[in-house]
Amino acid sequence: MNRTRLVLGVFLAFILTAPLVLPEFHVTLLNYIGLYSIVALGLVLLTGVGGLTSFGQAAFVGMGAYATAYLSTVHGWSPWVTLLIGLALTFAVSLFLGFITLRLSGHYLPLGTIAWGISLYFLFGNMTFLGGYTGISSLPPINFFGLTLDSGREFNYLIWAFALLALLSMNNLLDSRSGRAIRALKGGGLMAESFGVDTARMKIIIFVHAALLASLSGWLYAHLLRFVNPTPFSINSGIEYLFMAVVGGAASVWGAVVGAGILTILKQWLQNILPKLLGQSGNFEMIVFGVLLVLLLQRAREGIMPLAVRFFPAPKKLLAPVSQVLQRRIRPAAGEALLDVIGARKAFGGLVAVNDLSFTMRSGEILGLIGPNGAGKSTVFNLITGVLPASGGEVHFRGERIDRLSARAIIPRGLARTFQQVHLLPTMSVLENVAIGAHLRGRKGVVSAALRLERAEEATLLAEAAQQLERVGLGASMHEQAGSLALGQQRILEIARALCADPVLLLLDEPAAGLRYQEKRALAELLRGLKAEGMSILLVEHDMEFVMQLVDRLVVMDFGEKLAEGLPREIQTNPAVLEAYLGSVN
Ligand code: ADP
Ligand code: MG
Repeated sequence: MNRTRLVLGVFLAFILTAPLVLPEFHVTLLNYIGLYSIVALGLVLLTGVGGLTSFGQAAFVGMGAYATAYLSTVHGWSPWVTLLIGLALTFAVSLFLGFITLRLSGHYLPLGTIAWGISLYFLFGNMTFLGGYTGISSLPPINFFGLTLDSGREFNYLIWAFALLALLSMNNLLDSRSGRAIRALKGGGLMAESFGVDTARMKIIIFVHAALLASLSGWLYAHLLRFVNPTPFSINSGIEYLFMAVVGGAASVWGAVVGAGILTILKQWLQNILPKLLGQSGNFEMIVFGVLLVLLLQRAREGIMPLAVRFFPAPKKLLAPVSQVLQRRIRPAAGEALLDVIGARKAFGGLVAVNDLSFTMRSGEILGLIGPNGAGKSTVFNLITGVLPASGGEVHFRGERIDRLSARAIIPRGLARTFQQVHLLPTMSVLENVAIGAHLRGRKGVVSAALRLERAEEATLLAEAAQQLERVGLGASMHEQAGSLALGQQRILEIARALCADPVLLLLDEPAAGLRYQEKRALAELLRGLKAEGMSILLVEHDMEFVMQLVDRLVVMDFGEKLAEGLPREIQTNPAVLEAYLGSVN
């Protein structure tokens, strides 16, 4: 039995026995920790994992609480029905708010969440049918298969059952195809889009998910207290929820419970001790919280879970047996026209990085794109793969014009790339990083992931990632963190990731940079092998020896323009090239 299971077992045993043996006061604390954990869990997903800060979660808690308070008292509906209605309402409102707020970038997003957090609070307070600032009282207790949960001790089981289900499903979600896409949002958005992830949609999904958890917590809260008023749903609580998520950190979903636990107990303790110390009453704990938050952000940005997680090494992921086969693309015949760049142009303000560049590629070819630093090679890659919009010219791929398409629309057509500056998720395993490349070869979404209904597909995706890692020679490192690899290896990882997309054309931006001699030879061997299988490769590379022995043809760029084009031996003796390029290197 591993340590993680042991701690989980102890925790479960505690939750099961605590309400029976603890004094009333402690049971109440435990109830609150459970309620807050559910909200904080949503924020771990939204803010910790997804990088989207929300101060407004308390308003969604209020939505769940008020929906059930109003409908179960005024209309006398069953709390189980009003739970569903509250969730549906929250779903609709958060979807709408998500659409308007998530477009805001940088500091505007948190400001936006503060704005609607405050608005919803005043809305609750000013609605006379919701009881104004006095609120609604005498909510019915929850009835569970004939059992009336009208004491805090009984309610504890309901709260923690929901909290554990939420934790479990979140854990499932993060460990899936959609989960990898969500984890790429913070720091890997561009890369994820390049592999077909709809990052805008993923942001909405985690926003709605977090709101639904908050609403669920509100429903539980309302029936625990059997009374609601606007106070607990103010922006102050929103800040506290965010604080809990930050304290716990995003390293593990259990950070939500740890954060909620620490803050709840600390707040209780400070509320007792501070007035005694200071000799007067007031909300001094908020000041202490503020100071602690600043300290935490300076000293332990990732929250306190990473410290704890170190004691619980994740068990090595065993690759599950595969029962499906991944579809492969139909490849063009060798020699067929593949890529056609016609008069491509890109200007950054006054700087023309690519100027009227034209070249073509045939299927099965390795074409080298070379030129001095700053010649515009990477910009050409960005134009072809849709990462940057072109200022002029056209790009055609297999007879289809693609220069107006986004990166996300281009990848399914069979172009996959690596980046000159590696784009990977350093704390995610090598295997999972590579599996992002296969994103579009899976179909299953967040709901099946949370319910673990996508295991067959997931096994297939991971097996594909493992196979591509073996192919590029990184099989032995697949369970390591991607960030722990040497830079040269990280570039090789990117090749495996691109191969996972089952490309027709592979675009490699300086893949040999940072590799040792033997590794370069292995890479050349790999690329030759890929070519033999019919892969077409567009290669940007600085190492001349490496390029010359590998490519069929070369295009030489200088100052954004095409300087020469031809076979390696022609280029090696071309006077213009020797002067502009080789001359400047030697
Ligand atoms: P290479 O890959 O051949 O070294 P790049 O395509 O990276 O060259 O850069 C070509 C020129 O365009 C350089 O002068 C570079 O500074 C400029 N450049 C590249 N990307 C940008 C950008 N996003 N914004 C402004 N200038 C850029
Ligand atoms: Mg470059």
